Amino acid sequence: MADGRLSLGSPTLAGARLTIDLDALAQNWKALDTMSGDAQCGAAVKGDGYGIGLEAAVGTLKDAGCRDFFVALPEEGLRARAVDPAIRIFVLNGLMTGTAETLITNRLIPVLGSMEEIADWNSQARANGRRLAAALHVDTGMNRLGLRVEEAMAIDETDPVFDALELCLLISHLACGSDPAHPLNEKQLTAFNEVRSRFPSVPASLANSAGIFLGPDYHHDLCRPGIALYGGAALDAHLAANPMRPVVRSEARILQVRDVAAGDGIGYGSAETAKRDTRVAIVACGYADGYHRRAGSADDRTGATGFVASVPVPVIGRVSMDLTAFDVTDCPSPGPQRGDWITMLGGPASLARVAEHAETIDYELLTGLGRRYERVYAGLAGDGTG
Ligand SMILES: *Cc1c(COP(=O)(O)O)cnc(C)c1O
Repeated sequence: MADGRLSLGSPTLAGARLTIDLDALAQNWKALDTMSGDAQCGAAVKGDGYGIGLEAAVGTLKDAGCRDFFVALPEEGLRARAVDPAIRIFVLNGLMTGTAETLITNRLIPVLGSMEEIADWNSQARANGRRLAAALHVDTGMNRLGLRVEEAMAIDETDPVFDALELCLLISHLACGSDPAHPLNEKQLTAFNEVRSRFPSVPASLANSAGIFLGPDYHHDLCRPGIALYGGAALDAHLAANPMRPVVRSEARILQVRDVAAGDGIGYGSAETAKRDTRVAIVACGYADGYHRRAGSADDRTGATGFVASVPVPVIGRVSMDLTAFDVTDCPSPGPQRGDWITMLGGPASLARVAEHAETIDYELLTGLGRRYERVYAGLAGDGTG
């Protein structure tokens, strides 16, 4: 910047900043690793590391002791592989057509979810003249990806369909884990254990974040937490009291502070009418940054709440693409000024609370965080921007 030009991602140019606490991420992994007991603890880093940045997530978790990483796509696998040559990387979406060579070259392990994928991967191994690592996905009741239980029970680990493969993990995924009382959890557990009996020498993995909280019966050999690592709620009960440390904070810059007379409308559609003489701060962050439009307010619904220091400032009116209005009337005089910051996510504006107002879940808020933020990585490996 010595030549007077501003670089892309410069703090001076961004309307909002994300502070990502890598120390909290590492602490969350260690806590989940402890809860996993005798099982190993891996990490789901799909969705760009749940929005915080895949490379930062992998690097931090690897340094914390994590060895097994789960991505959705080969492209994410490549990015994880570039961080470390030794970690194990599982591709949850399995063997997508046309991706075999990339997987082989980069030692990415597909999570095979159909007899067709198994046959395909096995013949890739034969063609390459070497055994290839593979994970096997069995669907125990979610009806998403994976072999049906009957299909899995009709084969076993010695079946010729695997004759050129090294089966290194058997997985299934819980559909209702966030609700510990849901009867499907036990049904899935029973079915999974039944399938395991056909694959006795293959390590098993059922638990996502929620599964870790469901207790030791669900831990098997390897757990695969995602959302809890990033400070999200694993169980529905955690929406009220989440034991994980928050990892993400977003703050937006105030562009203008204005006084709106009682009775005047604010924002698109004039959706909210000022109920009193109102001081409004307009910040440079909107739905293009992943601050959902449904987080806005109208005369018949309250919106999400931001914070100025510890003072709650409600969103007032609709969220625009690049702008959001907050009611700062109750901030002590002189109140926030142009150039000050409003916390939109993090601290008392917890993921769960903002998600509730936006009628979504913390997963979607995190993975939808936009590309325009200045990103500040703090703690541990961090203390830099990237
Ligand atoms: C996303 C995902 C996980 C992680 O789930 P969380 O609920 O975020 O802990 C684990 N396993 C599979 C198959 C997944 O798709």
